[in-house]
Amino acid sequence: MFIFHNRPITADYLPYLAGRMALLIHLWIKIWGTGYFAFMPAGHYDRKKIGRYSAIVILVILMTTEGLCFGSEENEKHPQPSQGKWEAIGKFAAETSLSLISQATAIPRNRNLIVLTNAGYAEVGHSPTQEALDGLAKATGVSRGRNTLIEVQSTAWSPLWFALYDKDSGFCSYLEVDPFKAANITRGNAKMPPGLFRITATERIDAEYLYQHSAEYKEKFESMIFGGNGFRIVSIANAIVAGAPMDVIRAFEFHDHYCPGVTSGIFMARYLRSHFPPGKSGYFVHSVEPWCKEDALMVLLNATPGKRSYAVSYPTKSDIAKRIPEAKNASTIVYRQNGQSGKWEGGVLGFEWAETTSCPKTGNGIVDKLCANLWYLERLAKPEEFVKVIKQFEMPDGITPRDWARPGVDPLHMLGLIGK
Ligand SMILES: [Zn+2]
Repeated sequence: MFIFHNRPITADYLPYLAGRMALLIHLWIKIWGTGYFAFMPAGHYDRKKIGRYSAIVILVILMTTEGLCFGSEENEKHPQPSQGKWEAIGKFAAETSLSLISQATAIPRNRNLIVLTNAGYAEVGHSPTQEALDGLAKATGVSRGRNTLIEVQSTAWSPLWFALYDKDSGFCSYLEVDPFKAANITRGNAKMPPGLFRITATERIDAEYLYQHSAEYKEKFESMIFGGNGFRIVSIANAIVAGAPMDVIRAFEFHDHYCPGVTSGIFMARYLRSHFPPGKSGYFVHSVEPWCKEDALMVLLNATPGKRSYAVSYPTKSDIAKRIPEAKNASTIVYRQNGQSGKWEGGVLGFEWAETTSCPKTGNGIVDKLCANLWYLERLAKPEEFVKVIKQFEMPDGITPRDWARPGVDPLHMLGLIGK
């Protein structure tokens, strides 16, 4: 309705709405009843008629314009009552977590904390939650610059969660917001309601401890102690502790967890930058066997379908079986444009997983992947050990990678990598 000026009707809005309706009703009664025209001397014009026409005009103006104090500019002068609410919730989440960790072990030191959250992605009752990041940072000292405030991508409709990890003790406190309780908080200085966090868990999750308690933690993660975010939190927190650099962080924030699959994309991006530097127009990537690596490649090469520089084919097992033996492992074709000749040139890449790592098989998938992550993380400087060039080529004059990404065109067939 016009009079609501696109604002959702929330509890804090009701007093304003009531005031506005009272004013409208008052004006209607006074004008309709000609109360405001009583000063006019009696004459040959109809006071009643003028009053009624005026009432209709005033009502239409009030209902269809940004009148009174509900206009967009006015909202800037009079902040919405809920301003500061999410910053306060972020601060409260940090304080609650610090207290939980203190009870489990010892009072954490600020400089040794890491916060992981999907605040800023998750919405609660259509309300954006990014202000919570400021509250978390103020209460714990975590920061983007020091890689201690990790923003994990999620959908807007995912539950909002916070995880605070203490590097000293290995303890992590997980909190998940109850959206119904959060909806009742109207102001930043409001008292936080009991039960605001519908899941609270404090667990020791440092890699060494998890290796020794893998069976116990298999059960714990299966019973969703950290909501559905167990692997996400364990993999990311331990990667940060192990010194994951910025490219790794960007990749796993976007991918929303850290896994060996995303690691392979990070290796490929690093390999390309050293051995196949981009031309002026950057890279064009065509994945011919997609997995988690795509998310790393998109973020680290800034090649995306939206910029018309990323294509993906989804081959079946029988499609892969048709490839010639040398191309069985082909997963990613990367192109760049030669600045001098203007021709496109490319490489078909494969990723060869290490046959053995130092990781034992524990039967706990989360712990096994964590161990593999950390093993590969130590080898980030040597992408050549895992990234293999299957074929290097130059495209015919005037042909672009997009020509080979058209429906019905298989770039591996164009490159002679499909058997008869
Ligand atoms: Zn993954």
